[in-house]
Amino acid sequence: MDRYAVVGHPVAHSKSPDIHARFAELTGQRISYGRLELPLDGFVSGIEAARAGGLSGGNVTVPFKLEAFAWAQHRSARAELAQACNTFWFEADGVHGDNTDGIGLVRDITRNAGVALRGARVLLVGAGGAGAGVLGPLLSEGPAELVLSNRTVARAEEVVRHHTAWAGQHGTKLQASGLMDVEGVFDVVINATATSLQGAEPPLPASALRPGTLVVDMMYGPAAQAFAHWAQAQGATVRDGLGMLVEQAAEAFFIWRGVMPPAAQVLAERRAAMG
Ligand code: NAP
Repeated sequence: MDRYAVVGHPVAHSKSPDIHARFAELTGQRISYGRLELPLDGFVSGIEAARAGGLSGGNVTVPFKLEAFAWAQHRSARAELAQACNTFWFEADGVHGDNTDGIGLVRDITRNAGVALRGARVLLVGAGGAGAGVLGPLLSEGPAELVLSNRTVARAEEVVRHHTAWAGQHGTKLQASGLMDVEGVFDVVINATATSLQGAEPPLPASALRPGTLVVDMMYGPAAQAFAHWAQAQGATVRDGLGMLVEQAAEAFFIWRGVMPPAAQVLAERRAAMG
C-alpha cells in the first residue's frame, strides 16, 4: 500500500488525511495518508528520513512550502511561478514538486461557484505564500484585470513583477496596490491574507464590492465568519476556503494516482459534516 502524508508544523489540525481517505475509498485506490509534523529547522532531514522509510509522496503546508520548492529536483511550471510547492512525489529521477493550490482555487470559483474568471475584474488581497501561489493559475483564466493588494506594497510589487510576462500572455492587466488604495468595483475578490485568523479589520474597502461580487476567503471554519458577514452585508456572495482545500487535494490525488476523485461530492460531505 502506497503511503502519503501532509508535512508541516503544526499538522494536527489538517483535514487532508480525512479528505484523501475518502478519495481513496471512492476511487478504490489502496493508499494510506497520514500526518508528518517536522521540526521548524528539520524539513529536509525529516522528509528524507520518511522517504527512506517508504513514503511515496505527500502535501506540504505552512511553513515548509518554500523549502519544499528548493528541495524538489523537478518542478512544474505552476510551482516555478508560485516559487512554492504543496505537492511532492518520488520517481526514479528524483523528487518532483508541484503546486495545486491555484488550480484548486480556480476550480472552486469556476466549477463549484459557477463564476467565470475570463474577462472579469479580480482583486486578490494578500501577497504572502498563498496569494503568490494562486496568482499564476488565476491569470491563466484570462481575467481582464487583476489587482494584487497587500499590506506591504513592496511585496505585492515584487510578486507582480514575477508574473508580468505571464499576465501579458493571457491578456490581463496586472497591477499592485496597497490594501485600501484599490479603485473601482470587482467581480471576484479573493482574501488570501491571515486577517480572518487574527480577527482583524476587513483588508479591503467596502467600495470594492457590489451586489453579486463573489468573495472567496481562503480561510474556513469559525474564524472565517466575521469577514463573511461583513462581505455579505455589502451584498456579496461569499465562499470560504473549504472548496479550495478539497479541490487542491483532488488535483494532488490525480497527480499521484492518475485517477480524478469526485471532489464536488467530498466537498458536499465535508460541508455537511461541519454543519
Ligand atoms: P503568509 O505567507 O504568512 O501571508 C500572510 C498574508 O496576510 C500576507 O499577505 C500579509 O501581509 C497578510 N496579513 C497578515 N496580517 C495582516 C493584517 N493584520 N492586515 C492585513 N494583512 C495582513 O500566509 P499564507 O500562507 O499566505 O496564508 C494566508 C491565509 O490563507 C491563511 O489564513 C491560510 O490558512 C490560508 N490558506 C488556505 C488554503 C486553502 O486551501 N483553503 C491554502 C493556503 C492558505 P504582509 O505581506 O504585509 O505581511
